Amino acid sequence: MIGNPDIVLPKYKTVIFIHGCFWHRHKGCRYATTPKTRIDFWKEKFNRNIKRDRRQTKELIKEGWNVLVVWECELKNNLDDIVNEIEKIVHYMIPSSSKKLLIPEFSCFVDKEKGNKTI
Ligand SMILES: [Zn+2]
Repeated sequence: MIGNPDIVLPKYKTVIFIHGCFWHRHKGCRYATTPKTRIDFWKEKFNRNIKRDRRQTKELIKEGWNVLVVWECELKNNLDDIVNEIEKIVHYMIPSSSKKLLIPEFSCFVDKEKGNKTI
């Protein structure tokens, strides 16, 4: 799957990326620091990541997916809020007749080590 999303919700044609603030350059975020040495190396690396993110998002949208991004710092700060937010967004996107999304399913995105989640 394009971009290897952290969560895939085929029923809702929605993918969710959980982006690390440092690697994906969360704008204005205190975690999106730039190392003090080898600045050019890092800049180039970050630019590549940003470009790749954009390209992948575009491709996914072209294929009819809704693309959501959740930043790591937002997860750290308040997981419940983010889960609610995602739930709201997904609800908003799908017809009211099929509004059925269980929050516990979302809690699986915390254990990222286990790889991709398909719900
Ligand atoms: Zn951040």
